[in-house]
Amino acid sequence: MTYDSENIFAKILRGEIPCDKVYEDAHALAFHDINPQAPVHILVIPKGAYVSMADFTASAPADLIAGFFRAVGQVAREAELEDAGYRILANAGADAHQEVPHLHIHIFGGKRLGPMLTR
Ligand code: AMP
Repeated sequence: MTYDSENIFAKILRGEIPCDKVYEDAHALAFHDINPQAPVHILVIPKGAYVSMADFTASAPADLIAGFFRAVGQVAREAELEDAGYRILANAGADAHQEVPHLHIHIFGGKRLGPMLTR
């Protein structure tokens, strides 16, 4: 899948549309999901044009890959999810119902979560 620079997360990264930001550094931006599926539902996106985890890990520079994953951990810590637990998830492609073609990691927490897969 080629990267569409008009996707909604690209627009958020460029500051063209707002987000409810929870964290930002040189490598990543994190914000609350607009349609939360759990009491805590945060999205973390890398600062770069990558569609999926496969694209990102094949093409991104090592400092961005490291920085992005550090940011995911930092966001989970700052959301105080470490003790109770949380789930991270990244959808890729049609079978996983990826809606936004910019790599994003969902962080879910704040309650006892259901089964890992619903179907
Ligand atoms: P996915 O199905 O993994 O591509 O998930 C896309 C997620 O982005 C969904 O959970 C949406 O609720 C969320 N989303 C879409 N637009 C926005 C937005 N403008 N701000 C925050 N979250 C959004």
